[in-house]
Amino acid sequence: MKKVFFLMSIILSCFGCTNRQAAFKEFDYKVDRFADMEIIRYQVPGFEDLSLRQKKLVYYLSEAALWGRDIIYDQNYRHNLLIRHCLEAIYQYADISRQGEDWQAFEVYLKRLWVANGIHHHYSTDKFEPGFSQDFFVTALRAVPAEKLPSMESGRLTQEQNPLQTQDSLNTTQYADELAARLLPLIFDARLDAKRVNQAQGEDLIVSSACNYYRDLSQKEAEAFYAVLNNPENPCPVSYGLNSRLVKEEGQLREEVWKIGGLYSPALEKITYWLELALEVAENPRQKEIIQSLIDYYHSGDLETFDQFSILWVQDLESKVDFINGFIESYGDPLGIKGSWEAIVNFKNEEASKRTQIISDNAQWFEDNAPIADEFRKKEVKGVSAKVITNAIMGGDAFPTTAIGINLPNADWIRRDYGSKSVTIENITEAYFQSSQGSGFNEEFMWSEAEVKASAKYGFITGNLHTDLHECLGHGSGQLLPGVDPNALRSYGSVIEETRADLFALYFLADPKLVELGLLPNEEAYKAEYYEYVMNGLMTQLSRIEKGKQIEESHMRNRALIARWLLDQGSKDKVMKLKKRHNKTYLVIHDYGALRQLTGELLAEVQRIKSEGDYTAAEALVENYAVQVDPLLHQEILDRYAKLNLSPYKGFVNPLYKPVYNDKDEIIDIIVLHNENYVEQHLRYSKDYAALPVEN
Ligand code: ZN
Repeated sequence: MKKVFFLMSIILSCFGCTNRQAAFKEFDYKVDRFADMEIIRYQVPGFEDLSLRQKKLVYYLSEAALWGRDIIYDQNYRHNLLIRHCLEAIYQYADISRQGEDWQAFEVYLKRLWVANGIHHHYSTDKFEPGFSQDFFVTALRAVPAEKLPSMESGRLTQEQNPLQTQDSLNTTQYADELAARLLPLIFDARLDAKRVNQAQGEDLIVSSACNYYRDLSQKEAEAFYAVLNNPENPCPVSYGLNSRLVKEEGQLREEVWKIGGLYSPALEKITYWLELALEVAENPRQKEIIQSLIDYYHSGDLETFDQFSILWVQDLESKVDFINGFIESYGDPLGIKGSWEAIVNFKNEEASKRTQIISDNAQWFEDNAPIADEFRKKEVKGVSAKVITNAIMGGDAFPTTAIGINLPNADWIRRDYGSKSVTIENITEAYFQSSQGSGFNEEFMWSEAEVKASAKYGFITGNLHTDLHECLGHGSGQLLPGVDPNALRSYGSVIEETRADLFALYFLADPKLVELGLLPNEEAYKAEYYEYVMNGLMTQLSRIEKGKQIEESHMRNRALIARWLLDQGSKDKVMKLKKRHNKTYLVIHDYGALRQLTGELLAEVQRIKSEGDYTAAEALVENYAVQVDPLLHQEILDRYAKLNLSPYKGFVNPLYKPVYNDKDEIIDIIVLHNENYVEQHLRYSKDYAALPVEN
């Protein structure tokens, strides 16, 4: 539950470093645009400077990262893999015209499916509306050569496994029609499995969510199942339920564990195959131990082994190459229990990490000076480590949309006893920035030239610092009172946690200490981030929400919560207000100092809510400030945004790592290629990394 996603406002900010800009100029960032998405490339600066051994390590871990792709499709929705296979078969092999509106809409639908790892929007989690007709779809499916359609048993697009090869009596059209009969309601019935993750208050969140983490049971049953396992007396509990699907069969609840020999075994076997190779080129004995413990965990499914892995992993600060690979974040589960599979491979950006080193060296000062009650304060901050990294590959739930900062592990007791590792992913923020030059966004939404200029001058550095502080210190700060259940805030837990981390970052961003530490050039700089943050939370993030919908995603809720609470409190004392000019709404901030005090007050309250597990207060704060959308303001933002012709969301294509062999078949180098387009990449991934049957 510890990620910072990209704040739209960052893209308009400017780099301090002109050399870097020059170096990036030649690179072609833009790849594709469709629906609400823009797809961009990212560079991997510094890869060439790694040793051959490190390059091999990155390469093997990258393969391990890509082999889990099918898992996230299945976790997101039980029918996603079948749908993806059929759509890709049509796209590649159907003998029909590639002209006309139906085809175009079909292509957009498939591209959106790849973005979302399934048929529900990656951010809103609403089911996509197909813009093509049912007739078109059935005709297209019938026009696919029989051997290219997925077998419903195996899901693999191989001739050997297609039933049509062995069952001559089965007529091709008949088989296509059987598939169509299953697929039509899944794709075209808007009410069926309408939402991947439903957070609506008062509904059964499991029954009304389409994600594939629970089967045939109610929210009450699932909560009761895990309530029994969670013993509040245990100071070091495993993350119960993190790596399994919970099912009900003949009245009994049972976990189907994701492990080798269990659910998702074929994918996990491939992942561990590549992890075994990575083991051989690990940088040091500790890293070897880390990879080995992950392999052991994939074999046993034992959550204690996963905790041991996490403890080893969080303590590894010396390795240059690092990775995430596993069932990690729980945003995809309305109850916040199940971990979606994700993977990232990265290496340290030594130069930029000097900044985060200063922050982590001063972690205790920040904790001691946080504006929270003493009983909620950590007496001793342990193992706060932070670095700036270069992503080399992203996979599973971390792809093709991704975070710009990560803080792990998620287990509260490991964070308490061993600290956490926190990263800011600067080649990703750079790609966002470079691909968004000159969009006109700030000029449209900011009150005056002064805010636009401040953003250009300080926005990039303060945005990155916000991420550093949020990840490195914010999530790790504070403590629960003894006996408080870490899951006490239930479905409000992740919003409150993100709110807490953001407030921590905002509060300290305005502290003179940052100037003293050399992290900010002067005591004005922080204002750029304050303005952009509040503007985004009050107004511009609404551009990501469809007309008539409410705010649902955790990070958007947390930003709305903070910005609206500040406006609510701040407008009383004329700290800030929303002002109209030529019928357009703008944020005007009069008193930044007072605004900072308000962030401190809200932080104190949010920390209290978390430390005491005050569910009622969490519910009130979220429901009052973070959910509803003012329809008039929403329409205005949508109209203004539409005129800018921007895509509200960005996704990525990965680079391709290609080993170079000598005549003895030994790898002598790994080269990075950036020449794949979006469609090519996903069709290749579907072909080369098809690990799972269509139904699991
Ligand atoms: Zn976070």
